[in-house]
Amino acid sequence: MDNTTLGFIGLGNMGGRMTRCLVDAGLKVLGYDTDPGRVRAAGATVAGSIAEVVSESAVVLLSLPDSKVVEAVVEGPHGLLAHCRQGQIVVDLSTAAASSTMRLHGLFAERGVQYVDAGISGGAAAAQKGALTLMVGGDAATVDALAWVFKPIASKVFLMGESGAGHTTKLLNNFLNAVSLAATAEVMVAGKKAGLDLHRLLDVLNASSGVNFATLNRFPHIVDGNYLEGGLTGKLMSKDVVLYLDRVRELGVASLNASGPLASFGLQTALGYGDLISNRVVDAIGDMSGGVRLHDTANTTGEKA
Ligand code: NAD
Repeated sequence: MDNTTLGFIGLGNMGGRMTRCLVDAGLKVLGYDTDPGRVRAAGATVAGSIAEVVSESAVVLLSLPDSKVVEAVVEGPHGLLAHCRQGQIVVDLSTAAASSTMRLHGLFAERGVQYVDAGISGGAAAAQKGALTLMVGGDAATVDALAWVFKPIASKVFLMGESGAGHTTKLLNNFLNAVSLAATAEVMVAGKKAGLDLHRLLDVLNASSGVNFATLNRFPHIVDGNYLEGGLTGKLMSKDVVLYLDRVRELGVASLNASGPLASFGLQTALGYGDLISNRVVDAIGDMSGGVRLHDTANTTGEKA
């Protein structure tokens, strides 16, 4: 085993971009994905199995859809737990259920393996530039030791506390992201139906108290037909809102604001846009509002963020 080889499991929209940054920084990355084409596309070496990734790497990174998949990759008969060895570090960069993360942390600890949860923020654009924000839960010395791994992919790393604190923080952030995206989509459809100039409307929102990440970074592109494809899908956004609800229920917090994003991103999936970027929620709301599109449909692009 080479101490500078990284294992990477799950090289989709985010994992693929993070891997590309690691490879460009000169690190050797052994990748495993159920679609090996994604490993090749990211410039990593294709591994034939999870066992091969674990045996060749000191640090294994995961970027998988949800806790169900993470648990299968970790606890499956040919998974990480079956093949890991003392002293290894596994970092879960997925947006996952904190309760599952803490349980897996305990199972790894029994084998002398550190399991670190690292929520990521910034979307595909930041992943591409190696400028993600990481919110991390786990042993502080282990997180310090991961500086060489995080440097090529993140511009900000926040240690939030023990196991589960990183994934909890990610869910809190993404709930706000979901609320502001769904609410801004609705407002923009209303602006279109009111006959407002949408660029001017965004200028006003961005100079006023309605400003948020969607008004600043998403809708200035969407009104010109660029949905910034390549980022979080509508289905994954729904998953994040459901995980948030599970977490606040565990914490005994009254949640009064989840119905809007749950309905909005649920509608996106129901109308057939669920595998597209969550920004497409505006088209779902537009469909239900008389077939509204914010832009001239001839100008729609799939340009990536
Ligand atoms: P994605 O669907 O594009 O990528 C997931 C990858 O995992 C795919 O390449 C898939 O083939 C692979 N995979 C699935 N099951 C597997 C298995 N059993 N073994 C190996 N590989 C498997 O998703 P994404 O957008 O890259 O998101 C990954 C995670 O990051 C999710 O938890 C998501 O919520 C989170 N996240 C995404 C964004 C974003 O902007 N896309 C932002 C922050 C966090």
